[in-house]
Amino acid sequence: MKRVVIIGGGIAGLATAYSLCTAETAGTGLEIIILEAKKRAGGHIQTETEDGFIVEGGPDCFISEKPWAMALCRKLGLGDKLLPTNDRLRKTYVLSRGRLHELPEGVILMIPTKIMPLALSTLISTKGKLRMLLEIFIPKRKDKSDESLGDFVRRRLGAEVLDKIAEPLVAGIHAADPDTMSVRSSFPKFVELEEQYGSLIRGMVRRMAQFKKHAAAKNTGSGKKMTMFVTLRDGMQELIDTLVEEIKNKGVKIRTDTAVKGIEKTKDRRLRLTLNKGRNILADAVVIAAPAHAASCLVEGLDKGLSQKLGEIAFTSTATVTMAFKKKDLRTPLTGFGFVVPRSEGRGIMASTWSSVKFDGRAPEDSVLIRCFVGGAKSGHLLDLNDKEMTDMVRGELRDILGITAEPLFTRIFRWMKAMPQYTIGHEERVAEIEAKTAENPGLFLTGSSYHGIGIPDSIHGGEITAKKILSLLSE
Ligand SMILES: Cc1cc2nc3c(=O)[nH]c(=O)nc-3n(C[C@H](O)[C@H](O)[C@H](O)COP(=O)(O)OP(=O)(O)OC[C@H]3O[C@@H](n4cnc5c(N)ncnc54)[C@H](O)[C@@H]3O)c2cc1C
Repeated sequence: MKRVVIIGGGIAGLATAYSLCTAETAGTGLEIIILEAKKRAGGHIQTETEDGFIVEGGPDCFISEKPWAMALCRKLGLGDKLLPTNDRLRKTYVLSRGRLHELPEGVILMIPTKIMPLALSTLISTKGKLRMLLEIFIPKRKDKSDESLGDFVRRRLGAEVLDKIAEPLVAGIHAADPDTMSVRSSFPKFVELEEQYGSLIRGMVRRMAQFKKHAAAKNTGSGKKMTMFVTLRDGMQELIDTLVEEIKNKGVKIRTDTAVKGIEKTKDRRLRLTLNKGRNILADAVVIAAPAHAASCLVEGLDKGLSQKLGEIAFTSTATVTMAFKKKDLRTPLTGFGFVVPRSEGRGIMASTWSSVKFDGRAPEDSVLIRCFVGGAKSGHLLDLNDKEMTDMVRGELRDILGITAEPLFTRIFRWMKAMPQYTIGHEERVAEIEAKTAENPGLFLTGSSYHGIGIPDSIHGGEITAKKILSLLSE
């Protein structure tokens, strides 16, 4: 029986195992083992419940437009548990000059699709609005080389949009610096829109119309309204728990608390993994579904060049700090999904999600749940704060920005060290080189959010593609 060992029990590793054990050709009989360093599977996906609150430590949702996460949920029988965002309450604010301003309705990521809300917005100056609208007339870039997101936004929409919208949104999603990020790898859609329509605004308006049509058709079928972001009723952990149960039922072995230390080739062309606790395990195929920095250490003895290339992918650290409050203790009700904070405001938090407004069932009726993001590309040092200092800092920010002076009912801090891969300029070429070098090591595969998309749907899709490659290799 051939043995596949998957290193890392995050969503990418679990999705790889699921695809392997449910593939039509799986009947050939594979032994599939997942080795996970931590005491639990799930990686960044971690939900905790406390007194009727649902607290997400890592991701709180996924994008529905990329179909792979929705499809996996449905295959796992979680279709009825999919929970849309409360879009009737959808509003995002941006902190500017110490005050919250509503992100104009119709601004998708940073692209305006509606004139009136933009015209009435207090966020952007008149000059900035005119510059934004000028985008329609700016010719597309002829040079096909990679470009930073910062340069791309300055070129197409102007510096004010970069400062007040793009930079804080990107900090919230990627914990990244737009001036080092590759636009092609981080926001391929933007490059595609420029390429196809010659303008982001024109392209986004067309795409939105198509999305609405598509969503309407789907909603008619299921009776459930689909939104751009969705989660699961009992939290994202439900996806992990169901997936783990399903693959275990299909014979996949999951060994937690088992860190892999290194990989080497054997004389009979198999791979030998050294584990903590001084043990070894042999495999016919090995999938490294751990982040690139961990993969770099794992392959050091196997392939120095590959190890070095993997080490070139940078990561930032981030923390989520969630606080619960009684509604009556808030001076003003929370009316929206939260706010983002431009770096130029000089604050300690990057963004804040009002979780109990964004999704139903995140807090009891009389309470609210607020989650703040700390750290990222420019403020990684804040992760050094101890829990008390971090709590005090976040409480200070909520007092200054939202006027909340009440003691939180509870606070939960999750620290994610070297967790967010940075798709910096040249990422696509770097990944191509990594993949070419990986292919020189038969039986070795890499997957996960370090390479082809940082979100959950991409991580699942990557796992599915990896499973196909393994099955093809092992059937040779
Ligand atoms: C705070 C935060 C918020 C996020 N929000 C969202 C969101 O709302 N929506 C979204 O789509 N995405 C979001 N993401 C990104 C999302 O979490 C990732 O895309 C996804 O979880 C990556 O999964 P993965 O399996 O590639 O990696 P991971 O989840 O990092 O899993 C890798 C696993 O490998 C294990 N491992 C590492 N080294 C070893 C070793 N040597 N031996 C054995 N095991 C090892 C680790 O312990 C870990 O469990 C967020 C990320 C963070 C940090």
